[in-house]
Amino acid sequence: MSQIRGLCGKEIPVKQRSQAYYEKRLRHKVGRAISDYRMIQHGDRVIVAVSGGKDSLVLMKILSDLSGAAPVEFTLIPVHISTGYEQDFDRVAVWIKAVCGQEVIRIEASIKEILSSVSDPEKSPCALCSRLRRGRLYSYAQEVGADSIALGHHMDDIIETFFLRCFYTGQIGAMAPSRVSDDGKNRVIRPLASCPSRLVEDYFSFFHLDPVSLNCPIRPDGKREVVRRYLSVMEREIPQVRFSLFGALGNIDEKSLCIRESVCANPH
Ligand code: SF4
Repeated sequence: MSQIRGLCGKEIPVKQRSQAYYEKRLRHKVGRAISDYRMIQHGDRVIVAVSGGKDSLVLMKILSDLSGAAPVEFTLIPVHISTGYEQDFDRVAVWIKAVCGQEVIRIEASIKEILSSVSDPEKSPCALCSRLRRGRLYSYAQEVGADSIALGHHMDDIIETFFLRCFYTGQIGAMAPSRVSDDGKNRVIRPLASCPSRLVEDYFSFFHLDPVSLNCPIRPDGKREVVRRYLSVMEREIPQVRFSLFGALGNIDEKSLCIRESVCANPH
C-alpha cells in the first residue's frame, strides 16, 4: 500500500490506518465543503455523475453515507453517461446497489460515434467528449428537476486545472467547488474539492473493486501529466504545497493582478 503524507511532511504508512479512519476524514472534508460552498440545501435532489472511475465511486459512497446522516437531508440520483468506451459497467452498478442501496440510471450518449465522426488528428477530442457528457447530464437534470449535479473532481484536479489554464491558455482560473452553469439552469458541485487525490485513492483501495476501464483509443495529450510531475517535484521541497495552492485559489489579492479593463476572462 502507498503512504500518506501528514501536514508536517512525515510519511505515514497506510497500513496503520483503517477504512474507518479514511471514511471519517472524507466525510468530514466533504461535509465541510458542502457547508462552506453552500453546495446542497435541505430537500435537494442531487445527481451524482458516476463514470465508474475511482473518484466517482468514492464520491457516491461518501454522499450516500452523508445523505442518511447529515443534518441537511438530500436525495441522490446516480447517473452514468455511457460513452460507448466503458467495459463492464454492470459490475460497478451491482456494487453501488449493494453498498449504497441505489440503482444507477444509465444514459446512452453515443459519444463514441460522435467522436469518430469529428476526426481532427491535430486536436484531442477529450474536451469535446467532456462537453458532450456534461451536456447530457445537464439535460437529464432538467428533465427530472434535479437541484444540482455532483462531479468527482478532487483537490488535485482543481490545482492541476489551475496550472493547465495558466501554462497553456494564459488565463488564471480553475474549477469552482460550486457554480451555476453558463445558461443559469444547472448547479454543478464538486463535493471532493478539498480532498487530496491520495486520500481518495487510499480510501478506494478498501473497496476491493476494480474501477471501470475504458477502451478509448485516444491518448490524452499529456499536458496534465506534465503538471502532475511539476507538482510532485514542488512537493518534495514544500510538503504542504497542494494545500497552500488550494487555499490560494480562495484567497486572491485581485488588486495585485495585471488586469486591463478591456480584458475579460472566459468563465470555465
Ligand atoms: S480519453 Fe476518450 S473517453 Fe476519455 S475524455 Fe478523452 S475521448 Fe473521452
